[in-house]
Amino acid sequence: MGPSTEIIIRTEIDSKIPERDHPYKYSATIAGVKCMSAREPAERIELRRTVRGFVQTYLAPLEAEVDAADEVNPATMQRLREEARKLGLYGYNMPVELGGPGLTLLEQTVIAEEVGRTSMPLSAAIGRMLGSLRFCDAAQQEWLLDPLMRAETTIAYALTEPDAGSDLNALRTRARRVDGGWVVSGSKQFISHADTADHIIVLAVTDTEAKLTGRLTTLILPRGTKGLTMTRRFRKAGWRGYHLAAFSLDECFVPDSHVLGKPGRGFETMMATVNNDRLHVASRCVGLASAAFELAAKYARERKTFGKPLGDHQAVQFALADSDVEIQAARLLAREAAELGDAGDPGFRIAASRAKLYSSEMAGRVTDRAMQIFGGAGYMTDLPIERYWRDARGFRIGEGTSEMQRIQIGRAVLDSFA
Ligand SMILES: Cc1cc2nc3c(=O)[nH]c(=O)nc-3n(C[C@H](O)[C@H](O)[C@H](O)COP(=O)(O)OP(=O)(O)OC[C@H]3O[C@@H](n4cnc5c(N)ncnc54)[C@H](O)[C@@H]3O)c2cc1C
Repeated sequence: MGPSTEIIIRTEIDSKIPERDHPYKYSATIAGVKCMSAREPAERIELRRTVRGFVQTYLAPLEAEVDAADEVNPATMQRLREEARKLGLYGYNMPVELGGPGLTLLEQTVIAEEVGRTSMPLSAAIGRMLGSLRFCDAAQQEWLLDPLMRAETTIAYALTEPDAGSDLNALRTRARRVDGGWVVSGSKQFISHADTADHIIVLAVTDTEAKLTGRLTTLILPRGTKGLTMTRRFRKAGWRGYHLAAFSLDECFVPDSHVLGKPGRGFETMMATVNNDRLHVASRCVGLASAAFELAAKYARERKTFGKPLGDHQAVQFALADSDVEIQAARLLAREAAELGDAGDPGFRIAASRAKLYSSEMAGRVTDRAMQIFGGAGYMTDLPIERYWRDARGFRIGEGTSEMQRIQIGRAVLDSFA
């Protein structure tokens, strides 16, 4: 870990990190064979411990209540954000020049894994920022980014529409040029935090004739903009307490000062950090799967059937073994992607897709096996197992569906054989 992460303040919070959570790293060659050292650098272990301590102390106790109520109390969330800020965690993915700690992607995967152990609504306390905010100009930094980084305001990002999700060419929200800005009309759906955010970043078509790379513009709409109306909040299978909303835009005026990035370059603004976001989801899924897996492994030692612990039955051992291997494989895929990203290697794009695809599907399998090991108890809401199982499903859809990742990876494979 570089000097950048020294701003993570050490705290009294402490948690024991089991050996299996230290991702392995090739560190030595013995007799021509690369051997693995089972330890992370001490600083990354410390970082993991800090985040795990925060999650266990502040977030985990609220998980069941938030899930049942499908709501996080706004005052509670504000208090949690303050705590995350005190630890130097809030906005942890931002570079130093934008007020963040400037962590490497590898360091960020450690945080994402630990945050993945808690529920989606509560992890908003850590304040992972929208990557596209890197495109803020000097004035926008002041009125948009700085208050976000101080945890005073929040933001939403709206791409998906009733007729367009995976296929950006089908976007219908249009913005037309007027004196001093743009007038935007259309509708968006499934937008995280749209109904609570202070600003919504809207992707709109500004040149219907252009190709995707010149067709879209990213506009910043403050809450309360005339013509911006929330139309509904969605109920969901999982991520309960995390708001997803739909809204309509009826001739909303957006001044030039509220264009994020350059007009016509919305695709670039959006895609610039998509790989980081996919990597983040991949690591979150490792954390989520680990949490379910650990409970299942403990239960397999305690619960007895046919006169012996569940774990003594070979079928249960096999289920645990498969989950163990898949979690470690997912962690290593994320780690590889992070290292490529940190090195500025173009291979990062496909490596991040691979990690996102594998980890999100892995989390589904691991949480499903965990539920099976718990039997009926796993299906009941008394335990978090069924919540992990529900929550895992959403990750195969958001940040590019599994199919979109497969398309990217498949094309890259074919290109490499051209
Ligand atoms: C929990 C959650 C949070 C979200 N948050 C946000 C947010 O904050 N902002 C935002 O803009 N959106 C958000 N979304 C929306 C999400 O990005 C979209 O749901 C996703 O991109 C898929 O779009 P769609 O739902 O329109 O599905 P569609 O694009 O209609 O696709 C339907 C299905 O067909 C598959 N498919 C489509 N085309 C092909 C093809 N060519 N080949 C094979 N399969 C294909 C897709 O993979 C998918 O499985 C969120 C979604 C969820 C579930």
